[in-house]
Amino acid sequence: MNTNITRRISKAIKIGGVTVGGGAPVVVQSMTKTDTRNTKATVRQIKQLEDIGCEIIRVAVPDAEAATALVDIKKGIKIPLVADIHFDFRLALAALEAGVDGLRLNPGNIGEPDKVRKVALAAKKRGVPIRIGVNAGSLLKTSDKKLTVADHMVAAALAQVKLLESLDFDLIKVSLKAFDVPTTVAAYQSIADKIPYPLHIGITEAGTPRSGVIRSAVGIGTLLWLGIGDTIRVSLTASPKEEVIAAYEILKSLDPRRRGPVLVSCPTCGRAEADVVKLARDVDRRLLKIDKPIRVAVMGCVVNGPGEAKDADVGIACGKGKGVIFKHGEKVAVVEEKDFLNALMREVQSL
Ligand code: SF4
Repeated sequence: MNTNITRRISKAIKIGGVTVGGGAPVVVQSMTKTDTRNTKATVRQIKQLEDIGCEIIRVAVPDAEAATALVDIKKGIKIPLVADIHFDFRLALAALEAGVDGLRLNPGNIGEPDKVRKVALAAKKRGVPIRIGVNAGSLLKTSDKKLTVADHMVAAALAQVKLLESLDFDLIKVSLKAFDVPTTVAAYQSIADKIPYPLHIGITEAGTPRSGVIRSAVGIGTLLWLGIGDTIRVSLTASPKEEVIAAYEILKSLDPRRRGPVLVSCPTCGRAEADVVKLARDVDRRLLKIDKPIRVAVMGCVVNGPGEAKDADVGIACGKGKGVIFKHGEKVAVVEEKDFLNALMREVQSL
C-alpha cells in the first residue's frame, strides 16, 4: 500500500507573508467569533489563536464600522487578516483600504460587473488575493435535475473564477464547502483538475466539537489523502481554539505537516492503576503551547505501558502509586503518583 500522499500542485499565492499553494505546507486558518467592531476582544481572540499556531485569520465584516475596525485589528496582530464580505462592494473596498491581506467574497453576490471590477482592480493593485467561497447551503436553486449538488457547486465556483479572470485577476483561492462529506469530497475532486488555483478545504457548519471534529476529520482527511487542499479550516460551534487544535490533529494524523506534540495515550482498562484519563487530559492541555513535533506517551499500566512509552520521545507508564518515566527509550526516573504530571512535563521541556 502506498502511504505517500502525492499533492496536487496549485498556483502559489501569498496571503500577507504566508504562501498558500504551490506545494507549500498546508496552512491552518480559523475565523473569529467576536463582534469585529469590538477591536479589543477581536485582537485578544486572534492573539490566543496565534499562540497555538493559527496562521491566517478571517473576520466577518458586516458593516462599515466593522470595516473601520480592521485598521486597528491589523495593527494588533501578527498573522494575515482576511475580511469576509457579502453583498456590499464598498465594504470590500474599505477592507482593502484598511490593509487586509485577503478577501473572501463571491463576486456573483456583489452585483453589477462594474462593482466587481472595482473590487478586483483595488485588490490587484495591492496584491491581495480573493477567495471564492461557495457553500452548498447558499446556492441558488437550479432547474437542471441532472446536476448533483457537487456539480452545482463546481459550476457556481467556475462561473465566479471566470468572472475574475475576465478582469485579468488571478490571485484566486477557491473553497467548495458542504455539510455533507461525500458532496464536499466530490466537489473538490471535480474542481481540482479544472482550475490551477489553490484550494481552501473544510466541512461547513460541521457542528459541535463531539461530532464536528469527526466529520471534519473524515472530510478534510479524505481530501488531504487524495492530495487536495492547500489550506484548511475546521468549522465548529465552539471556541476557534478548538478549530485550530483539531486542524493540527488532522494534519498530524496524516503527517503532511507536523506541528506540536503527538500524544499517545492508552484507553485504560481494568489493569489501570492510576487516573490515566485525568493525567492524559492534563498533559494534553500542557502540551498545547509546545510546537516541537515530539511524541509523548501516557500509559496506564506496566503491562503494555512500557513498550509504548519507550517508543515515544518521552513517556510514562503508570503503576500502583508509582510511575516509570522514559526518555528516548531509556528509563530515566521512577516517580510518585502525585508527581506524574510535573515529572513528565519536566522531561518534555528538557527536549
Ligand atoms: Fe490497559 Fe495497560 Fe493497555 Fe492501558 S496500557 S489499556 S491500562 S493494558
